[in-house]
Amino acid sequence: MSLENIKELLSKFNWEYCITCGDNKYYSSNYFEFKKNMVYENVYKFDDNYYKNKTKFIKIDDLEYKIEYLENITKYIEFILTIKKDKITGLATRDDLEDYVSKLRKSSIFVLCDIDDFKKVNDNYGHPVGDQVLNILGNIIKENIREKDFAGRYGGEEFLIIFDTDNVEIVKKRIDKMNKEFNLRGKNLNLSFSAGISFYVENKTITETIKEADIALYYVKRNGKNGSIVYSKELDESFTK
Ligand code: GH3
Ligand code: MG
Ligand code: MG
Repeated sequence: MSLENIKELLSKFNWEYCITCGDNKYYSSNYFEFKKNMVYENVYKFDDNYYKNKTKFIKIDDLEYKIEYLENITKYIEFILTIKKDKITGLATRDDLEDYVSKLRKSSIFVLCDIDDFKKVNDNYGHPVGDQVLNILGNIIKENIREKDFAGRYGGEEFLIIFDTDNVEIVKKRIDKMNKEFNLRGKNLNLSFSAGISFYVENKTITETIKEADIALYYVKRNGKNGSIVYSKELDESFTK
């Protein structure tokens, strides 16, 4: 179903609607404003009973969406429909990520993750199994971030997670936990990922922040993989040695 179809569908009703992804969560329009523009106030959950009779379901590209009765929020539909559209992982795409980070407030932690030896998974077990592995990691990431964090598929087997915190110890623990979980759920595939961590702070651009995460990631790749490191200038220097 295309956006035009949706708009047509919505125009047949007397109410205005919000569409949310089929993840069993009910979000307010403010939630979407929060996602898109980083406004942190007024994020709340709906009362399920109150809205139950007014909720409809539709499917778009195999993802189920709920249509809910809300006030004056049709303007959000376009954004909601374009987010979480990566079919394999269910995460935001790179475009969505870029839209998101362009409005991000400073003081957050970026983590760039890249699956280790992923090519071997494809070579040894085939592309569909590779896709399943991407899906597994996508799910693990979703389960391990909070609503105010953000994650997207950044490239083929690369993911960018933005943690809304300045506590790097918490982030490192979270990443280790995800890596263990990845290995566990991959059964005998011996899965792991490497991660580079950097700080998005004053006087730094998004591009610089991602570049630093990438340098840190590359350092982990060259030093045994399956782990994470926080970017520092020394890592830069180790490049030129
Ligand atoms: P490293 O540990 O250095 O990251 O090695 P790697 O094998 O993970 O990295 P490399 O860049 O050599 O290979 C990445 C592979 O990811 C190659 C590409 O075919 C595969 N890939 C990219 N996107 C997809 C996808 O959507 N599905 C599947 N199954 N494979 C993908
Ligand atoms: Mg890669
Ligand atoms: Mg890789």
